[in-house]
Amino acid sequence: MDEESQRIGAWRRLLADQLESLRRAGVEQMAVRQTAAPPAACPRDGNGTAAPPRANEPRANEPRANEPRANEPRANEPRANEPCSERGRERGAADDVGTAVVAALPDAGAGNVHRGETADGMGLGQSLDRLRREVESCARCPELVRNRTRTVFGVGTPRTRLCLLGEAPGADEDRIGEPFVGRAGELLNKMIAACTLRREDLYILNVLKCRPPDNRTPEPNEVENCRPYLERQLDILRPEFICCLGAVAAQSLLRTTTPVGKLRGVVHAWKEAKVIVTYHPAYLLRSPNQKRAAWDDLQLLMAQMGISVPHSQPG
Ligand code: SF4
Repeated sequence: MDEESQRIGAWRRLLADQLESLRRAGVEQMAVRQTAAPPAACPRDGNGTAAPPRANEPRANEPRANEPRANEPRANEPRANEPCSERGRERGAADDVGTAVVAALPDAGAGNVHRGETADGMGLGQSLDRLRREVESCARCPELVRNRTRTVFGVGTPRTRLCLLGEAPGADEDRIGEPFVGRAGELLNKMIAACTLRREDLYILNVLKCRPPDNRTPEPNEVENCRPYLERQLDILRPEFICCLGAVAAQSLLRTTTPVGKLRGVVHAWKEAKVIVTYHPAYLLRSPNQKRAAWDDLQLLMAQMGISVPHSQPG
């Protein structure tokens, strides 16, 4: 092995060690930015010029589909002058370190799944669209299929930190095809605004994608039938936080029979996501005296998300 090859090998081992230590520190994703990479680790053609990108490969400094541009925060991620959680600060610092490593070792992270892609390499939007089409043709629950106008898949930005999980579509949702659009949806919008968030920056979905007749509670077998869709949807979205609205959402996701009253006030976990439980807006319309408790839940959620807590309570 000549001296140049040995030098290249040493560089690669050093960078691989750095990358591995970042992985062990919990860094799952890193923005790839073109930086001054060591010449030995930079892919070059025979003339010493930078090799062109492969077909379908984004050029340096060009974001992938659905990927925010450099310095652009993800939806509902605290901005520069907003408070952020310790976890967020640590991740930001690690990203800065990791950027240089990954830029210098372009193939080293090939096994990682970028947040903007799913395991099969599809963009989030594409993956959701494919799942949506499956749901639209689903006939697993004959009674629901007979009565539904349309399936209600979910709405919002795929690149979100927070998913709001409800129970099932009601009459308005069944007619329009979007979750939480009736009176309960209006209250949910107020709850979202009180958290200083915007509905369009979240993702809202239900446990069931089809409306139960007369808005009855979903049957256990219907929840089980639809669960694979819910799990796949959440696996694509990979939110940091899930807020369960009501008993069906909380008990289905967490696979428990514990009442909502006892699930509230605790940070649960579903896969990598932190889960907060609160009351369903439709229940709050019937029981306005519980709004204070729901506001406590939202404040817990905001604290977990690193959002400074406003003092006003939604009406
Ligand atoms: S509720 Fe879910 S599982 Fe049942 S028919 Fe609708 S989409 Fe299919």
